[in-house]
Amino acid sequence: NAAAELPPKLMLNLEVLQNLGEDKAAPLMRYVAAIQSQRGDYNGRVLSIRQDDLRTLSVIFDLQPSVLVDLLIEWGVLDADARRAVNFDAD
Ligand code: C2E
Ligand code: C2E
Ligand code: C2E
Repeated sequence: NAAAELPPKLMLNLEVLQNLGEDKAAPLMRYVAAIQSQRGDYNGRVLSIRQDDLRTLSVIFDLQPSVLVDLLIEWGVLDADARRAVNFDAD
């Protein structure tokens, strides 16, 4: 099964993100709003983002990508399966 070897999609749960009320989530909320605006994709419950965007966000948050993914999983913004996306991408 080839699909099992692909990295999982980084799919952000927008409902959870909106309701976090975490000051720390503000940069992610701005980043998501920018992508939604660029795509014209405003009404989704989730937003799939690029692998590259995770690298950018890790710089913004000043966290290693794997640490950022763990934080987003803790917040409930990413599925636990997303952890494989950083492992897959590890150099
Ligand atoms: P772009 O990167 O030149 O992509 C042009 C169009 O190609 C996109 O229009 C989309 O229809 C398609 N496309 C590119 N990459 C993918 C992909 O991985 N999956 C899918 N399903 N389609 C893809 P769209 O969506 O209207 O986006 C317009 C522009 O907004 C993009 O131009 C890019 O500059 C920016 N953008 C949109 N979404 C993202 C994102 O998630 N991350 C980043 N970094 N930029 C994004
Ligand atoms: P999937 O990638 O597992 O996405 C499941 C559902 O999550 C999608 O159902 C859609 O309702 C939602 N979703 C995921 N990412 C986004 C997002 O960035 N914005 C919004 N607004 N919703 C999102 P949907 O649309 O019926 O698609 C079903 C399946 O069809 C997707 O499963 C995927 O396998 C495929 N698909 C749909 N659009 C694209 C695409 O642009 N590129 C690729 N490669 N596959 C797509
Ligand atoms: P996806 O649409 O299923 O695309 C999976 C992967 O195929 C992308 O992973 C990217 O490596 C490649 N890919 C797909 N379309 C294009 C394209 O037009 N140009 C290039 N250079 N590569 C492409 P990636 O980048 O990690 O993106 C993950 C998911 O994020 C995409 O899954 C899609 O759901 C979403 N996404 C990323 N960029 C865009 C975009 O510009 N517009 C939209 N609507 N969705 C995007």
